Amino acid sequence: MAYKITDACISCGACAAECPVEAISAGDDRYVIDPEKCIECGACANVCPVDAPKQD
Ligand code: SF4
Ligand code: SF4
Repeated sequence: MAYKITDACISCGACAAECPVEAISAGDDRYVIDPEKCIECGACANVCPVDAPKQD
């Protein structure tokens, strides 16, 4: 399953810079992952300071 960003996100943008397939973009109140693009590499979870990206 693709990763999803939970409401712990503080919109720092670090994950979007690390994603190899540019699946992450800024949303209204948090960053969001396009599940059609995510290849489940885990880079976003590794770089996130608040552990917001979670795999379903
Ligand atoms: Fe991008 Fe990898 Fe995170 Fe999926 S798991 S959103 S491919 S950084
Ligand atoms: Fe949100 Fe974490 Fe991504 Fe920063 S790295 S935008 S806190 S999910």
